[in-house]
Amino acid sequence: MSITANWSYPTSIRFGAGRISEIADACAAAGITKPLLITDRGLASMDITTKTLDLLEAAGLGRAMFSDVDPNPNEKNAEAGVNAYNAGGHDGVVAFGGGSGLDLGKLVAFLAGQTRPLWDFEDVGDWWTRADADAIAPIVAVPTTAGTGSEVGRASVITNSETEQKKIIFHPKFLPAVVICDPELTVGMPGFITAGTGLDAFAHCVEAFCSPHYHPMSQGMSLEGMRLVKEYLPRAFADGTDIEARAHMMSAAIMGATGFQKGLGAIHALSHPIGAIYHTHHGTTNAVCMPAVLQFNKPAIKHLIADAANYLGIAGGFDGFCAYVDDLNASLGIHKTLTELGIADPDIGRIVAGALNDPSTGGNPIEMTKENTTELLLAIV
Ligand SMILES: [Zn+2]
Repeated sequence: MSITANWSYPTSIRFGAGRISEIADACAAAGITKPLLITDRGLASMDITTKTLDLLEAAGLGRAMFSDVDPNPNEKNAEAGVNAYNAGGHDGVVAFGGGSGLDLGKLVAFLAGQTRPLWDFEDVGDWWTRADADAIAPIVAVPTTAGTGSEVGRASVITNSETEQKKIIFHPKFLPAVVICDPELTVGMPGFITAGTGLDAFAHCVEAFCSPHYHPMSQGMSLEGMRLVKEYLPRAFADGTDIEARAHMMSAAIMGATGFQKGLGAIHALSHPIGAIYHTHHGTTNAVCMPAVLQFNKPAIKHLIADAANYLGIAGGFDGFCAYVDDLNASLGIHKTLTELGIADPDIGRIVAGALNDPSTGGNPIEMTKENTTELLLAIV
């Protein structure tokens, strides 16, 4: 089955195998004549990146790349990226990669024309209105994983390397003008990245679905996103060249990230400080946290999760869903504890403080306190 589509929601999305060939046309549609391709170091030398640069060069758009991007990108990466962007006289960004390349690419497009420092734009109240919106450069986003959904997000997650805190920088114009979702770009992902990123999409869907805020659109999207993960993540993990499974996982990623406008919760609230301090993979960390968070939230989400289980064809209501999550994690090689994840002696007080400060905390269906969050964290140590 070949899946090809053009969508205009939540932005212009060119979806289908082989559509990276439209990269120059996508830049033209976004009004970009001299793009800077931004990706991470690992992707910089890979064939899919070289091929994309070839396409840009052949179309007369130049061949410029910035790849000094850490797995959890920080303000130093952002500053170096802005310098490269301005020195090269670029007029837009091709954000290329997993969450790191996409988030840093979007951030550089945002920051290059601003006069205020980065942290002035943290997602607090209406701080985003401090930005000069007209100075924000257009973005074409090209995901090479299926999970973060940053390609359709209006924010970037960036680590403050001094405080080791993950911060969210938000502006409506972070939303890329054009997205190319080409599942062929994801076939080279190793299994543990397929698992970790796919489970990030799943965590977005589950947390958005359980968040108490009123947002029926997100509710529907999150539920169908869960179904796509259930059907297709095991297939993509078993056979990385299964293009149909890869395509559906790209859809699930978009749906999770669009859905979580409704809210996230304790999974992300814990995962953000853990990732910022110990540099663990975001999606994998979420997956380790999910079983304990489901139990933590049980009094508030029992019936909701039972509804989801029904839709997903999982027997046994809430408990059946939890058993399914345990089995899914085990089948994808996900560890059960932070110790197994390689964090020998986690700083409980610091992680809890980070979690309670994280914006995701506000979307959790049960109020998180120092006491109950400490208890929750100890359950996964
Ligand atoms: Zn996430």
